[in-house]
Formats: sequence, structure tokens, C-alpha cells
Amino acid sequence: METLIAFSVLVLFVSGYEEFRGDQVVRVKAKSLAHLTLLKKYIETEKNVDVWGEGEEYEFHLPSKQISSFEKWLTENGISYEVLVFDLEDLLNEEEVSNTKNSSTFDYNKYNDWSEIKEELLHLSRKHSSKAFLFNVGKTYEGEDQIGIKVTNGDGRSKPVVWIDGGIHAREWISPATVMYFMNKLLTNKADDRVSQALAKYDFYLMPVFNIDGYKYTFTNRSTRLWRKTRTKYKESKPPYKTCYGADPNRNWDSHWETGINASDNCTTDYYRGPFAGSEKCVANVQTFLRQLKNLTSYWNIHAFSQLVLTTWSWTSALSKDYPEIKRVGDVFAEAVSKRYGTHYKVGPPSRFLYPASGCSIDFAHDELKVVYSYGLELRDKGHYGFILPANQIQPSGEETSDALLAAVLAMKPEYQMSSSSRATRIRFLNDPAVLFILVFLSNLFIYRNCS
Ligand SMILES: [Zn+2]
Repeated sequence: METLIAFSVLVLFVSGYEEFRGDQVVRVKAKSLAHLTLLKKYIETEKNVDVWGEGEEYEFHLPSKQISSFEKWLTENGISYEVLVFDLEDLLNEEEVSNTKNSSTFDYNKYNDWSEIKEELLHLSRKHSSKAFLFNVGKTYEGEDQIGIKVTNGDGRSKPVVWIDGGIHAREWISPATVMYFMNKLLTNKADDRVSQALAKYDFYLMPVFNIDGYKYTFTNRSTRLWRKTRTKYKESKPPYKTCYGADPNRNWDSHWETGINASDNCTTDYYRGPFAGSEKCVANVQTFLRQLKNLTSYWNIHAFSQLVLTTWSWTSALSKDYPEIKRVGDVFAEAVSKRYGTHYKVGPPSRFLYPASGCSIDFAHDELKVVYSYGLELRDKGHYGFILPANQIQPSGEETSDALLAAVLAMKPEYQMSSSSRATRIRFLNDPAVLFILVFLSNLFIYRNCS
């Protein structure tokens, strides 16, 4: 017994303070507007609550000390709840054990830190030098090169561009792992006809880790694993003017940023939108790069968790004018993602499943860059593990997401791949009386010649 106690003390000493021991993740169902209002107020006033999911159902990560008072508060207000995770520290231990690496080479079935991913990107661009090209959009706040890989079929012809980024939220580790998996599939899977068909139609720009500074921070130690934002240093605008870090890079885009919908002005919160649109270096870099990118035809912003295909608009519950076509391709994704493992995704705008939010990347791509096929993905799972998905789910996530991305891009129609402004110009051009006259004249000439 004494040996056991000594061993436990030693384990605790070696592994350090157990930051999340006894913490729970609780799912709360809002059945009325009154419930929703109460829950929103609770989030605003209780600084210790970490929101994992928001919408009709909320998922809260609660510190152990707060559990009993929260449950009492829910019962008093007639709000029902279920406990998804009974002890968060156990879940983190499970993830850590699942991520043990045996090989010195890059392991696509494990969660890798930024230095390992960076090295693999450099390695891939050297190994597949005729079809994988490293691109760099600029430096992050902490001075990292914000890089990705352009994958082509190597025929030297420019094609419409599909952009895919992962890891905009630091703690969503399955996202960079899935983008890396897809990138590797595009580069190595010669036997898969869908890969060659997709590469015959498109050039792919893949950025596995968008928010590099935040992602690096989540690998610092156990206590930082659940960090969501960037790492820019700020100060509170009101007393006590505390120093705070990071803004939410998916509330910081130059698209309806000023409305501040489901975004905060308080830098201590997880949903801080930053002092101005594009204040976060990683966002400003990609915005500038995308504005200059020719022929951007589809944009994918990859998150976790909830199993959703999110469509525009994000900032309002109104639907995009191209919604029927956007939904059709979203449904193709959802159908394909379910084929291997029966993983069920829902398709629609964020206001339907989560909440509307301003300053999001999919709205920037759709609104400013006129990209019709602009989507956000929420990958596995539906809350059982949430952000702490064990590494043995990377491969199934990679397989099903690759299937679905390939099916979706191959289902896109050429007439929606030119920007809305180009489409508008084409319609205006065809409606111009002078152009119509010339077209009628040419068609008559054609008929005349055929009849002669
Ligand atoms: Zn996210």
C-alpha cells in the first residue's frame, strides 16, 4: 500500500499539477427563448465557463469547483442537462496515450506539433517537387512563417483554385491532422481516380495550420491544451486594464466585423473579435493572399467538432442568393462523408445549428471574393470527446473527409465557379442591345450560310 501511495505521489510529481481533474463537460438543452437568454447571460457573467459548443444545445466545460452551483442553477431554472465528460483529466490522459509515437518519421495517424508539421511540409515540397509547391503568406505575430502547399497535377497549366485551411482555432487538433491527411492523399494516391479527376480540374492550396501561434501554445503543456485564439498581446480597455492574449481569428475577418454579432469586445473572452478587422496577423496575411489569388473557386475552413457543413451566410440568418446550389454541393459532401463509417453530417447556415457570427472567413470568401462554394466544416465527433478526440480517429476522419471533399469539388458546376461579379458582367454583357444585335446578326449569317 505504501509503495502504491509513493508511486501515486511520484506520478503526480512527474506529470505535474492535474489542471482538469474533476472538470466536466455538460450538454445543456435550451427549450425556449427564455432558456437561451438565461444561458447567454450565464456565459457573460461567469468568466470560468469554457463554451465548447453553442446553439440549441450548449456544451460547457466546467471547472470542478463550479459544477454543483451550475447544476443547482440549471435545476432552479428548469433547464435539462446531461454530463458528456465526467472527468476531463481522464480524457486528456486518453488522448496523450493514444498519441504515443513509435517512429522518427512523420506519422499521419498522430497529432503532430508545429515543428513536425513544418518539417513535413518542407519534405513533401522537396519529394514531390513537380506538383507540390510551398507558399508563404507572411509572418505570424510570433514570427512564424505562415506556410502551406499548393498541390497540382504537374501539367503546368493554371486551374481554378480550391483553398482549404485547418487549425484556425488552436485546440481543434483533428482539423490540421485531417488537412495533412488529405494533402498526403492528393500527393500519393495515384490509384484513386477521384484524385486524378480533381487534380485535372483544380489546383489545391492547403494550409494545415492557420493559427500557428495558438496551435504551438496548445502543445506547451496540459494547462494550455484547450486554448482557442491567437496569441497577440492586448490590454483590457477598462479597469483593471489586465494584460490578455489573443483574439478569435474566426471573428476577425473583414466581413461584417463591425456588427460584432456573437463576437466580444472584451479581450479576456474566447470570442474577442480584435480591435479592428484583420488585426490578427494570421488573418491579415491570408486575406491579402486570397484577394490576390486568381481564380479562387472554392473555400473550405475546417473546424471541430459537431459534424456539420456550414454554409453562407454566417453573420445573418438570411440565405445567400446562390443557396440552392451551395446546399446541393453541401449535401454531396454529407452523402459522401457517411459512406465509410456512417458519420452523419448536417448541412446549412451556422444560424440554424450554432449561432450567427460576424467576421468569419466563409463570409469573407463569399461576400468580398464572390466565391459561391464557400464552406465551413465541423469535423468529428458530436461531443463525446469534443476537442480531445483520440488519435486513433485521425485515420477514419482523414478517409471520410477526403472522400467527401473529392465528391464535393467534383460536383461543383463551372457556371458557379466564376465569381459572382464575372457572372453579373456576363449577364449585363448579354443584355447589352449592341451585343444582342451583333449576336442576332451572326446567328442569321450562320443560318443563311447553312441554308445556301
Ligand atoms: Zn473552430
